[in-house]
Amino acid sequence: MRENLPDGALLTDPDLTAGYKQDWARDPDAVTPLAVVRATSTADVQTVLRWASEHGVPVVPRGAGSGLSGGATAVAGGVVVTTERMRAIEVDPVTRTAVVQPGLLNTEVKKAVAEHGLWYPPDPSSFEICSIGGNAATNAGGLCCVKYGVTTDYVLGLEVVLADGTAVRLGGPRLKDVAGLSLTKLFVGSEGTLGIITEITLRLIPAQPPQATVVASFSSIEDAAGAILEITRSLRPSMLEFMDRVAINAVEDEMKMGLDRDAEALLVARSDAPGAFAAQEATTMADVFTAHDATEVFSTDDADEGEAFCAARRFAIPAVELKGSLLLEDVGVPLPQLAALVTGIAEIAKTRDVMVSVIAHAGDGNTHPLIVYNADDPDMTERANLAFGEIMDLAIALGGTITGEHGVGRLKKAWLPDYVGEDVMALTRKIKDALDPQGILNPGAVL
Ligand SMILES: Cc1cc2nc3c(=O)[nH]c(=O)nc-3n(C[C@H](O)[C@H](O)[C@H](O)COP(=O)(O)OP(=O)(O)OC[C@H]3O[C@@H](n4cnc5c(N)ncnc54)[C@H](O)[C@@H]3O)c2cc1C
Repeated sequence: MRENLPDGALLTDPDLTAGYKQDWARDPDAVTPLAVVRATSTADVQTVLRWASEHGVPVVPRGAGSGLSGGATAVAGGVVVTTERMRAIEVDPVTRTAVVQPGLLNTEVKKAVAEHGLWYPPDPSSFEICSIGGNAATNAGGLCCVKYGVTTDYVLGLEVVLADGTAVRLGGPRLKDVAGLSLTKLFVGSEGTLGIITEITLRLIPAQPPQATVVASFSSIEDAAGAILEITRSLRPSMLEFMDRVAINAVEDEMKMGLDRDAEALLVARSDAPGAFAAQEATTMADVFTAHDATEVFSTDDADEGEAFCAARRFAIPAVELKGSLLLEDVGVPLPQLAALVTGIAEIAKTRDVMVSVIAHAGDGNTHPLIVYNADDPDMTERANLAFGEIMDLAIALGGTITGEHGVGRLKKAWLPDYVGEDVMALTRKIKDALDPQGILNPGAVL
């Protein structure tokens, strides 16, 4: 394989390859891979997969390693293919599309298209550290997705290298295209189990109008949940985010921005309605917060002030992580069940005697319960793991999902059959077997 790859692409020195063994889920059992290939082109990826399929060697695709479900955890005797060197982008303002290689970070895509007055909306909180290929592979969501949809809504086409090394092109720069099966959509969110994405054609939209921001504190989860439901019933906020008391305090400890430490919930809502309508919509949301007994409501149309509250929300995971080891959930429920999910999680935390902080993309019912524990305490670690499963069971019982945006990866795999059922698992296995008969692509992830 080495002779068919560019100089420096193949790493086998364990001091270097060890840096590719984990993603942000930080699996303590992750092993150093046999090798890492820093692909520079589709041809490099084909070289690796042809070699791997010939020798039956597992391959773990990797973007920027910010995943939270262990999807990019290396496997024993396997090769990690990282796309970090595949960073080209071409923007076409006429068709409002961009053709990007997978290694570009989300923030770099946003900046490149902004130079043409265009916008790529999906905005995971990790937008500065995650790759666009990883976003496509996990069908990433984010803060503005409540109004603008998730990654798949912006993927018009893909180039994918299949397990045997064949490169296929799916879709392209056409807003409408129903020829054949929806294979592009099949690969979006497939978490590296069906092929390696080597190029993405993205749909772009005009730049986002200026946003007005409203922030409200509540003394009860129920009040905040009531406000969320009323807003989503009648308005289209461009952001509607939630932090609980633990997250508020963890963020305040680091950022010192005057958040109400006694509040049980903080909501950050934004409107990007055109012109004066943004301020009007923000005022309506402020009124809803007040009507639902918010203890404090603050509105601003200043871009920097608004961004400071978004940055605080985006910082919630790293801030809570400073308190201990994290088991990070991604459960989502139909909106009317949001309060039941959050209060149910509090009960699980009490029963299992572990701290669980909840942050959420509240407008789409997608929560991130963060289980904080001491990894050096085996008893507490066991209780944290039990809570991790019980939270997913609770979400399923409430008609929700085990993952709204992070993917199943390795961490949530055991709960997938409970969520989708055996028939869907059998169908999923048939698709996997058809595309990857030897099971070399990201083995151990998803199914
Ligand atoms: C602080 C923090 C906040 C976050 N907030 C959000 C959020 O708001 N919304 C959200 O959706 N996620 C969020 N995430 C999770 C993570 O950033 C996303 O899942 C992101 O899409 C992963 O991108 P990556 O490039 O880091 O992928 P990786 O972690 O490298 O990989 C993720 C998965 O995709 C596969 N993969 C990667 N590249 C390819 C490819 N080219 N072809 C095929 N498969 C591939 C991997 O095998 C793995 O299964 C957050 C993470 C952190 C650390």
